[in-house]
Amino acid sequence: MHNNKMIEAGVRVGRLVTLGPQYKLGDAYVCDCRCDCGKLKTIRANNLRSGATKSCGCLLKELREGAMRSSANQRQPGACSLVAGIAREDQVAAYGP
Ligand SMILES: [Zn+2]
Repeated sequence: MHNNKMIEAGVRVGRLVTLGPQYKLGDAYVCDCRCDCGKLKTIRANNLRSGATKSCGCLLKELREGAMRSSANQRQPGACSLVAGIAREDQVAAYGP
């Protein structure tokens, strides 16, 4: 890969999508990006090319928080009761008055 290749608009790197081509800011090339979480962030083009930056920072935050939690928290709260509610409605439909 060419390390000094221009980054164009619409390039996805992890959670980031570039909103426009890279431009020079001070002594570095940067790119305005939108993160999947909705945040806008200006990222150094070098970091986008190398993959060092893949989010506005929310990815790292989630990884940190996720590491502290047990896998039990990955289950969606309310999913069980929702399924139970659907089952009850089916029963009402089948055996209702
Ligand atoms: Zn984000």
